[in-house]
Amino acid sequence: GAAILEARNLSCVFELRRFLGPSKSVHAVRGVDLAVVPGEVLGIVGESGCGKSTLARLLLGLEAPTTGEVLLQGRPLCRRSLETRRALAGQIQIVFQDTRGTLDPRERVIDQVVEPLEIHGIGEEVGRTEKAASLLSDFGLPRHLWDRFPHQLSGGQCQRVVLARALILEPKVLVCDEPTSAADVSVQAQVVNLLREVRDRLGLTIVFISHNLAVVRHLCDRVAVMYLGRIVETGPTEPVFRAPCHPYTQSLLAAVPIPDPLRKQDWLAVSGEPPSPIDPPSGCAFHPRCPSAHDRCRAENPGLRVISSNRGAACHLLDQDEDLADLADGVEA
Ligand code: SF4
Ligand code: MG
Repeated sequence: GAAILEARNLSCVFELRRFLGPSKSVHAVRGVDLAVVPGEVLGIVGESGCGKSTLARLLLGLEAPTTGEVLLQGRPLCRRSLETRRALAGQIQIVFQDTRGTLDPRERVIDQVVEPLEIHGIGEEVGRTEKAASLLSDFGLPRHLWDRFPHQLSGGQCQRVVLARALILEPKVLVCDEPTSAADVSVQAQVVNLLREVRDRLGLTIVFISHNLAVVRHLCDRVAVMYLGRIVETGPTEPVFRAPCHPYTQSLLAAVPIPDPLRKQDWLAVSGEPPSPIDPPSGCAFHPRCPSAHDRCRAENPGLRVISSNRGAACHLLDQDEDLADLADGVEA
């Protein structure tokens, strides 16, 4: 179907002005193409510093791209007036990593869920409160907690409040930036199940940004793997997890202790620190860490190759190694 959210050749470069010496450029996002279809849950994974949070901000129009554009329901974000940008809040919402930090410690939680309706002048006072109450009970927050303050709630309960607040405007797209990273495992599982439920019930489109591969595997229909600002592999979640084509995806998955009989045993863990987005390596940015790097990798950036109808990966090996393409085809068949 037609994409509800689309990124076209999206790049974002920040200038780092330094006290001494010349300023440097941070290449946070580099030439990203993405299309999210309605009702889909797309996971964006990568190590910290890979540009996934900047990508989230670009998708929301919170950051202006250096090149390229974002389209929401077919219309470019950046050319919208301030008025229409306000209306955007009703279409796309974000839930940030630190849920407690996004709640006001001095305000009762139900008032914080109501607030977006007030800001946008939607409905009357009674109706607003009723709507907030019904969302909070849908999200399993017991009634006796609605009048409490955030510090009186557990981490999992705060996550529910934050989600209710994000969804009260009935956005079509929800962007979650590492919403579970601060939480313990049981809270994580609750939130992910809640997101699945919300997706099923409301037909919500979700962009889920995370470094937690197990959570992404559980929640997402499709996954895009980022490395130093670029998408290096994309495809339906299960095939990518079962038979990753890009050496970076392979090493990411090898670093996760999920028992999986289909997994090859000889993959390398991603060794060393992720390189800096300041002056990223030439050619394929993964080459300093890649066990299969060869001369061409240092000189030439591999574009995203189509591996099969709905999978792609950016690696020169895919030009030479028929086995990799066969592997991907075989798993999907
Ligand atoms: Fe490794 Fe080269 Fe493929 Fe990059 S292009 S992932 S360096 S083999
Ligand atoms: Mg981040």
